[in-house]
Amino acid sequence: METTDIARRLHDVKDGLPQGVQLVAVSKFHPADYIMAAYNAGQHIFGESREQELAKKVEALPKDIEWHFIGHLQTNKVKYIAPYISMIDAVDSMKLLREINKQAANHNRTIKVLLELHIAEEETKYGLSLDACRQLLEEGEWRNLTNVKICGLMMMASHIDDEQLIRSEFELAANFFDEVKARYFANDPSFCERSWGMSHDYKIAVQCQSTMVRVGTYIFGERVY
Ligand SMILES: *Cc1c(COP(=O)(O)O)cnc(C)c1O
Repeated sequence: METTDIARRLHDVKDGLPQGVQLVAVSKFHPADYIMAAYNAGQHIFGESREQELAKKVEALPKDIEWHFIGHLQTNKVKYIAPYISMIDAVDSMKLLREINKQAANHNRTIKVLLELHIAEEETKYGLSLDACRQLLEEGEWRNLTNVKICGLMMMASHIDDEQLIRSEFELAANFFDEVKARYFANDPSFCERSWGMSHDYKIAVQCQSTMVRVGTYIFGERVY
C-alpha cells in the first residue's frame, strides 16, 4: 500500500460517516509509517490489539495519538497499557474491569472502556451475552470502580456476507444499548458510544446507530500476520 493511498482511503471512509460518528483507524499489524500517513491526513485515533506492538508504536509515534485497545485483553497485560491507553474497547468480565480500575488508579488516571457483547453467530469465548451483560450491570460492583468509565457498548457482527443478518445483529445491539442506557446510565451522558462496524460492514453499522466504527483493512490494506 502506498502512503498516498492510505490518505485517500482514510478520507473516503471519513467523508462517508455521518456527523458525530468517530473513526478508529485499526492499525494492528501495520507499520508505523502507515500510521503516520493516516496521522498526517488528520487521523488521531488508532486501534491496536497486541500489547507489545502497541508499546513500540506509542514510543515511536506522536504523543497526541489516542490509542484504543480493541482486541481481547488478558488481565495480566493491563498494567503495561494502563499508563497511556485512551480506551479499552472490549471488556467482557468483571475481573478485567477490576484490574483496569486498579491499574488506572496506580497511574492516577481514569480509563474509558466499552463492554463487549457477543451477538454474532460465531462461536467465540469473548464477549458478554446480553444476559451476562445485564447481570454484570445489575450486580452493581462497577459503580464503585472510580478509575474506569463505562462509555458504551461494542460488538462485532457475524463475519459472513449476509447483509440482513448483519443488520439484524446491529439492530439488536442498538436496542440493547437503549435498554441498558435507560436502566443504568440515564443520568450519565458519557455512556453514549455504540461501537460497531468494520471494513466490510461499517456502512450498515452507521445506519444502525453506530457512533464509533473500527476500520482497518479498508484503509491500510490486508494485514500480513
Ligand atoms: C481487526 C479488528 C477490526 C478491524 O477489522 P477490518 O476488517 O480490518 O476493518 C475492528 N475491530 C476489531 C475488534 C478488530 O479486532
